[in-house]
Amino acid sequence: MKSNIRVRFAPSPTGPLHIGGLRTALYNYLFAKKNNGVFILRIEDTDQSRYVNNAEEYITNALDWCNIPFDEGPGKNEKFGPYRQSERKELYKEYVNILIEKEKAYYAFDTPEELNAQRKQHEAVGKTFIYNWHNREKGRLKNSLVLTKEETKKKIDEGGNYVIRFKTPQDETLVLNDEIRGAISIDSNTLDDKVLFKSDGMPTYHLANIVDDHLMKISHVIRGEEWLPSMPLHVLLYNAFDWETPKFAHLPLILKPEGKGKLSKRDGDKLGFPVFPLAYTNQETGEVSSGYRESGYFSDAFINMLSLLGWNPGTEQELFDLEGLISTFDLSRVSKSGAKFSLDKTRWFNQQYLQKKTDDQLAKLYLPILKTKNIQGLPSINYIKSVVSLIKERAVFVKDFWSLSSYFFERPEEYNEKAVKKQWREGTSDLINELIIVLDSIDDFSSASVEKKTKNWISSKEIGFGKVMQPLRLAIVGEMKGPHLFDIIHMIGKEEAILRLKTIIKKLS
Ligand code: GLU
Repeated sequence: MKSNIRVRFAPSPTGPLHIGGLRTALYNYLFAKKNNGVFILRIEDTDQSRYVNNAEEYITNALDWCNIPFDEGPGKNEKFGPYRQSERKELYKEYVNILIEKEKAYYAFDTPEELNAQRKQHEAVGKTFIYNWHNREKGRLKNSLVLTKEETKKKIDEGGNYVIRFKTPQDETLVLNDEIRGAISIDSNTLDDKVLFKSDGMPTYHLANIVDDHLMKISHVIRGEEWLPSMPLHVLLYNAFDWETPKFAHLPLILKPEGKGKLSKRDGDKLGFPVFPLAYTNQETGEVSSGYRESGYFSDAFINMLSLLGWNPGTEQELFDLEGLISTFDLSRVSKSGAKFSLDKTRWFNQQYLQKKTDDQLAKLYLPILKTKNIQGLPSINYIKSVVSLIKERAVFVKDFWSLSSYFFERPEEYNEKAVKKQWREGTSDLINELIIVLDSIDDFSSASVEKKTKNWISSKEIGFGKVMQPLRLAIVGEMKGPHLFDIIHMIGKEEAILRLKTIIKKLS
C-alpha cells in the first residue's frame, strides 16, 4: 500500500544533469521507495531565457539509465499534472492574487534604474540596500504599499513592467527545521522581499516551486544545499497561504577531489573524469561533454558510488545493489558536510561490479567489441567466456578487455622490445625449437598436462626455468604479462602455440 510520502525531483532544464543533481534524484528515489511513497519528476522551466530544449530528455534518459524512473511526471501518471511549470502558468497568477488579497504580497513598479540608484545611495553611506520593511513604506520606492489603490490600478492598467513581491514580516525570529541540519533560526529582518511574479505573466522559481509542492502534495522537499537560503522564504510562503509546510532536507554538496568547493565541470575536464551521467552535446556550441555511461561505467556501480557521496549506512558495508540501498537508506544518516568526489573510488566500484558479473554476462558485453577487431573466425561464446574468466580481475571496464586479452584472439604482431633484449639470448632459438618438438608430442593438451610435460623437459635439461618460460611467454603473448601461461597455451591450442613459437624464431633470429 502506498504511504502518503510524496517527494519530487524538480530540475530546471538548463543543460545536462550534473552528478550532484542526479544524487538529489537518487536520494529522493531511495527515500520514496523505502517509505512506499511516490517519486515525482517536475520540470521547472519558468525561466525561459535559460531553457535548453534537449535538457528534459537528457534528464529522463539519465534517470532511466540509472534505473530510478519517476512514478509521476511528464507523460506518466499525470494525477497532479501538468508536471512542466510552463504548462501551469495560469495557475500561479491565481495564487499570487490570493497573497495580494491577504496583503502578504504587493505590486512594485520600481524600474531597474531606480533600484540601482537606491543601491548606490546606500553604498555611499556604507549600507546595503535591501528591498524589505526597511525601505518599502518610506516613500522612496514605488509600490502598492505607498501608492493609493487607484494609482496602483492605473499603473497596472498602463501595462508597464511591474513585479509582485512577497511582504516579508518584520521582527520575527523564524525557527526552521531541516531533517538533516536540525533547527535553524533566522531573523526575518535580514530577508528581502523576493519577487514572486513578473508582469510577463511568469512566476519566479519561489512561487511556482511552493505552489506546486503544495498542489502535488509533496511531503518532503529533498534538495541540494544551494537551496537552503530559500527555505525561510518558502516556509513564510506556506504560512502566508495557511498551508501545511512539507518537511525539508538539504543535501550536502559534492566537493572537488582536492581543494575546496563544489565539484565543477572544470574539475572533471582538468582531472579527466565526467561530471555528467550521460555524454552531452551542447546544441549551440557543438561541445561534447563526457558521460559515465559512455566512459564504460555500469549504472549500478555508478549509483552505488553516488549513494555514498553524502550518506553512509552506519556500517563498513560499501557495496549495495539498488534493493539494498532502498532498504538501508535513511535521511538521518545523510551528512551535513560536503562529500569529496574520488575518481579512484569511482573506478573501484566499477571494478567490483565487473568482478560480480558472470563470465557469461561479461562475454556478451565483450562480443560487440570483438566484432570490431577483424579477428579471423570469431571464436565461440564459450571460448570468450574462458578468456574473460582469466583476465577479468585485472579489468576496471569491459573496454579494458581487449588490451588484456588480444593475444587470445590474434598472434602477436610484435614483441615488447625491452623484454626481447632481456629474454631472447644466445641459444634461445635452439631451446624454443626443441620445445616445439616437445609440445608437438603432447596428446593431452590441457593446461596441467602441458605444464607438467614442459617443466619435466626443462628439468631434464638442467637449465633455469626462466630460460624457457620467459621467451615462451614472449612468443605467446608478445609481452611479459598475462595470466598463467599454460592456461593461455591450452586455450589457443597446440597448432597455434607451435605457430607462435615458429613465428618468434623467424622474427628474432
Ligand atoms: N528548480 C530547482 C533546481 O533547479 C529546484 C530546487 C528545489 O528542489 O526546490 O534545482
